[in-house]
Parts: sequence; structure tokens; C-alpha cells
Amino acid sequence: MTDTASLTLFNSLTRQIEPFQPVHPGEARVYTCGPTVYNYPHIGNMRAYVFADVLGRTLSHKGYALTHVINITDVGHLTDDADAGEDKMEKMARAQAQSIWDIAEHYTQAYWADIAALNIRPPAKWSIATHYVPQMIAFAEKIAPNHCYELESGLYFDVSTVSDYGRLARAVTEDGEGRIEAVEGKRNAADFAIWRKTPAGETRQMEWDSPWGRGAPGWHLECSVMSGDLLGFPFDIHTGGIDHREIHHPNEIAQNQAFCCTNGLDVPTNSGAKIWMHNNFLVERSGKMSKSSGEFLRLQLLIDKGYHPLSYRMMCLQAHYRSELEFSWENLSAALVRLKRMIMAADRLAEVAPGDARSPKLVPMLDAFDEAIGEDLNTAVALTALEDVLAAKKVDPAAKRAAAETMDAVLGLDLFGTNRANLRIRPKAAQVTEVEIEAVLARRKQARADKDFAASDALRDELSAQGVEVMDGDPLGWEWRLA
Ligand code: AMP
Ligand code: ZN
Repeated sequence: MTDTASLTLFNSLTRQIEPFQPVHPGEARVYTCGPTVYNYPHIGNMRAYVFADVLGRTLSHKGYALTHVINITDVGHLTDDADAGEDKMEKMARAQAQSIWDIAEHYTQAYWADIAALNIRPPAKWSIATHYVPQMIAFAEKIAPNHCYELESGLYFDVSTVSDYGRLARAVTEDGEGRIEAVEGKRNAADFAIWRKTPAGETRQMEWDSPWGRGAPGWHLECSVMSGDLLGFPFDIHTGGIDHREIHHPNEIAQNQAFCCTNGLDVPTNSGAKIWMHNNFLVERSGKMSKSSGEFLRLQLLIDKGYHPLSYRMMCLQAHYRSELEFSWENLSAALVRLKRMIMAADRLAEVAPGDARSPKLVPMLDAFDEAIGEDLNTAVALTALEDVLAAKKVDPAAKRAAAETMDAVLGLDLFGTNRANLRIRPKAAQVTEVEIEAVLARRKQARADKDFAASDALRDELSAQGVEVMDGDPLGWEWRLA
């Protein structure tokens, strides 16, 4: 029998799968880098939060008391992850002629709507970067004497003052490394701003007084401060997209090392978090993942085209979080069909009260599920275990329902909260209403009952002309679809 509590996770720091051993017995403390709220999130961004959600749900399932923090970056993130470019928020506010605070509010709400639509559990705390500026200044004051130097443009972190800088990225940090833009006077190419002074004669919409002059915090500083403040160093797990493994997280780690006042290479404790986890990218060939392209892939676009948002969650779960995942409408359609099959099976248990899940037939499936999800979150295999439960024959329905609920509590497909009818979403572009379609279908049914096949065919053609395809005998019971 498998050990239901066993959990191994891939640690980007060591590039190895390691057993999860909590810092505080029985607890799991997780920090996830949140969005920069200068625009809508694209579905690639949302993959990072589906991953963090599955991680959190798995930790809960394995019996740990979870404290999850996700931040909202409303200041400090430049158009380049290193020190080049301008503040993303300032730039968007100028482009839209609005205040930064309104921009931040609008896109934070939009992000939260996507979080809810994807059935992502809200974290214990959403930490808003601009609420932590005094703490950021205090943190910077603490590390500045031994680790920072001032230039005209701000306060910079000297990466040579901590041991093994960049070990997370496995980066060579020699001068001339192409990724990092030069700032006049930097001691090392990889040094980064932790406080950016407002240039003389300019004002920013978001600026604060500090010992280094009026200005704004650096993006990396925010996450070190909020994670340390809310979870305490060292905490268990820090997550983000794989791009953060290169600059943002190495810089957070350097600050955390400096703050913990240790220069040794005690990796787990001095890095702030013991385990650093990164989801791979969702990619799309034609470039629609880029927020700068006109019709970029937002969750709302999928919904407008008639895809239930949980079909996107299903698509994410079908791949391992560390594998690149290619977006295509075909993949999304396949995920929707799979979700629908599972929801229809769950529907048959709708009236059943959950009992004891561990009925003999289901035990191997429950164990397979625990093993899969406990092995670095193998959601693809875990999904098949859930399908096996739903398909199991001659099993007490109460046990079946309990087993399926247990598994879905981890995968988050909301199988018992969604039904077939509300899985169908009318595409925004559709001209004909659902009520009209159903009315024509009812007339056609009558015509067929009357054996008036000419009339039946005519009604079918009528619908077809409006872009509605009638699906007689569809195995999933869908009577029509928009072509
Ligand atoms: P941002 O709002 O740009 O700070 O990004 C929010 C999160 O999305 C970060 O964790 C990024 O690493 C992650 N991310 C960005 N693009 C993608 C993508 N195409 N696929 C998966 N994750 C992404
Ligand atoms: Zn971050």
C-alpha cells in the first residue's frame, strides 16, 4: 500500500526531486509570485496559478495546514526583468491616460475574476506590493551597509557580496552576459536596483520617500519582503513561472541571503524558501500569448468562443507542470469533451451522499491517485485514476462519490458543482439565441415523430444556415453545436 502522505517535489535549486519536509511540522507555507497588474493576464500567466493551486490543494490533501500567499505587483516591475526599460504600470497608465491606481484596481479585479473562473482557491492572503513599502525600506536599510551601493539612479545590490549568486539560474554572471543591460556605474553586470530614484526634475505617480531619495522599490525587493514578512524565513516553497528562474528569483535569493546575514552555502535556509518550483510555459505558435499582440489569449476570449473556463484548467492538468504545453483550439476542444464526460459521470452521483471511499474496488485507484499526485504532482496520471473511479462498475455509489470528491478536491475540476447544461457556453459571436435553437429543434423532433422527413430536413437546413450543426445521436448527448 502506498503512503498517502508521501510527497516529493522537484526543487529548481538542486534540480532534483526531493521529499517534502516542512519547516514547521504539519504546516506548509507557500509564496507565489503574482501578476503585474498593468494589463489583463493571458492564459499562459494563468497556467502559473493553476499550477500553484494544484500544489496547494495537494499539500492540503496530504494533511498539511496550508498558508498560501500570492502577491499583486502594482509597482516596480520594469518592461525588462533586469533594470532596463520603464515601469510597466507607469507606461500603461500614460498610454491609457489614467491613474496608476485605477489601472491597478481594474486589472487586479480582472485577474481575480479569472482566478475564480478557473476554480483556483483564493490564498490565505493576497499581498499588495504598495501596501508594503515601509517594510521594503526597512529591509533595504538592513541589507544596504554590507550588500548595496548607491548610484545616481538608485540603490543597487552587489551580487558579489553573497555566495554563489545565480545558482538557481545556473547562470554565468560574467560581464557581457547578454541578458542583463548595463547601467552606468554598476559593479557587476548582474547587480540590480532595489530602490529606483525618481530622476531629478521628474515626478512619478507612485513614489515614496526613502533614505536614498524619493522613488520606488525594485520588483525583486517586493517579493523578498512580502514572503519573509508573511511566511517567515525560511518558509517551505516559492513558486513562479520558469522565466523567473533566470533573474527574479536569483535576485530574491540574493536579498534573502543578505537579510538572513549568512554567507555560507546552507542552501535551504539561506535562500528564503527551501524549495523553489517553476511551471513551464504555455506556448502558442502564432504569438497570441504576447500581451502586446492585438487579440491576445485571455481567458475571456476562450469563454467568448464558447469554451467553459474549466476546459482550460483541464488542458493544464493533462500536461505535467514542468513540460511546455502548446495551446491549440483542438487541444482545448478535446479537453472540453473530456471534462464533459467526467461531469456526466459525476451527474449520475448527484443525489448520492458520500460514504466511505475506501471500498475494496476503489482502494487501488485511490492509491494510484495518491502516488501520482505525490510524485511531483503528476496530474495527468491522477486524472486517469479519477476517471477509473467514475467508470467503476458494481461499486457502492456512496463510496464512488466520496472517492471522486476526494480526488477532485485536488484537481479542482468542480465535477459536483458544474453540470452539463452550464458547461455549454454560447459563443459571443453567435447570431441565433439558444432559445431559438431549442424551439427549432423541438419542431424538428415533432416532424420526425410525424415521419415528415422533408420538414425535418428543412428545419435542419434552417439551423445550418445560421451556423448551427444538428448532432443526431451524439454520444455525449449534445444535440447541436455552433459550426
Ligand atoms: P507577470 O504578470 O508577467 O509577472 O507573470 C505572471 C506569472 O505568469 C509569472 O509567474 C510568470 O512566470 C508566468 N508566465 C508568464 N508567461 C507565461 C507562459 N506563457 N506560460 C506560463 N507561465 C507564464
Ligand atoms: Zn515575485
